[in-house]
Amino acid sequence: MTSEDFGGVGRLPQERRVVTEIPGPRSRELQDRRVAAVPPGVGSVLPVYVTDADGGVVVDVDGNSLIDFGSGIAVTGVGNANPRVAARVKAQADRFTHTCFMVAPYESYVAVCENLNRITPGDHEKRSFLVNSGAEAVENAVKIARYATGRQAVVAFDHGYHGRTLLTMTLTSKSMPYKHGFGPYAPEVYRMPMAYPFRWPTGPENCGPEAAAQAVDQISKRIGATNVAAVVVEPILGEGGFVEPAPGFLPAIAEFCRANGILFIADEVQTGFARTGDMFACEHEGIVPDLVTTAKGIAGGLPLAAVTGRADIMDKVHGGGLGGTYGGNPLACEAALAVLEEIEEGKLAERARRIGEAMLPRLRALAGRHPAIGDVRGRGAMIAIELVRDGSSEPAPELTAEIARRCHARGLLVLTAGTYGNVLRFLPPLVIPDHLLAEGLDIIEAAFDG
Ligand SMILES: *Cc1c(COP(=O)(O)O)cnc(C)c1O
Repeated sequence: MTSEDFGGVGRLPQERRVVTEIPGPRSRELQDRRVAAVPPGVGSVLPVYVTDADGGVVVDVDGNSLIDFGSGIAVTGVGNANPRVAARVKAQADRFTHTCFMVAPYESYVAVCENLNRITPGDHEKRSFLVNSGAEAVENAVKIARYATGRQAVVAFDHGYHGRTLLTMTLTSKSMPYKHGFGPYAPEVYRMPMAYPFRWPTGPENCGPEAAAQAVDQISKRIGATNVAAVVVEPILGEGGFVEPAPGFLPAIAEFCRANGILFIADEVQTGFARTGDMFACEHEGIVPDLVTTAKGIAGGLPLAAVTGRADIMDKVHGGGLGGTYGGNPLACEAALAVLEEIEEGKLAERARRIGEAMLPRLRALAGRHPAIGDVRGRGAMIAIELVRDGSSEPAPELTAEIARRCHARGLLVLTAGTYGNVLRFLPPLVIPDHLLAEGLDIIEAAFDG
């Protein structure tokens, strides 16, 4: 398998091309219009205005072709405007665009749910239903967990991110920008320590067991295990900076949940659909969640998200208790079916592992030369570096922003993350050609070298 097997290779040249300042003059004009029309609360990582994107590149209105290490935040894993996705969406748009599944249903919705029931962890009987966004999926998973258990408390973790609605911003850990000024928050949400190896006070070796023991103790003593409906956790933190919970942490939490009738909700919105080298990140430690939330990588950018869970839990909710006008829109369902074929036929989980194998050694070597890189981590095509003041563990957010700016100026689209804003995260499309992946890493190295 070579990388040239992937990505609409042929439609757009798979090349980096920087022909103006970034952002260029036409992007700056559009930015002026945007500032007058769109409130500043909606940010953009890099205000280059896009006209086209394919494989590993994003092309802007000034004719610059940027290497894409963002995938629209882990969404376009199969490539932007993937030909199979585009064809199915077009064909569906010519037939019907909406009936509302709650009014008059259609086959593609059922087929997406059958696929989700098949590919999510565990071979128990499952059910799925479809919504529009990751936040809506998490919100519904909590509703179902409360209904099924008759309990109210929900446990989330430090550095977690689950969305921007009232309940999901409450579940989210970081104040600025997600929660600041938007309170009061939803009740009955409790936060526990996360097994963050790089920042664990007694060192990474002790992190998994100690963090799990603290969480178990606090849940038992502070909330009372029998009051807890669910624990919601990302198997690798997304916005929190691609922290892989220390080994043993997730299995210990899952075991505690099982023993106490607490539902384990895996928020796989960012980690799902082959991104981490497994179809779902929970598979890495053999976790079988009671409920799984998915979105981002599910449908090539069409708005779709899902809750998948144990049939006995999902079937409890009364008829009409779940749904929404647009949830499982037929265009998005066709896109999802195409995405799943692309992932499975293209063996994109394996491709994600190759991407990680290409990135991690080079970033570790870079960390060896630059004491500002405190940690290199992640799995598959979900890789990050955490920046610190030389040799310490003190976060270096200004340097992180500066490195991101240098990458952008050289035509590499990278994102930042982390509670302290000191993480550079890399989410290339799984179909990125090898030569662009290598060139992107060259640019990151050059950005550190000055
Ligand atoms: C992005 C994200 C969400 C929210 O998804 P939206 O589609 O933006 O509502 C929830 N959980 C995780 C882990 C995410 O990365």
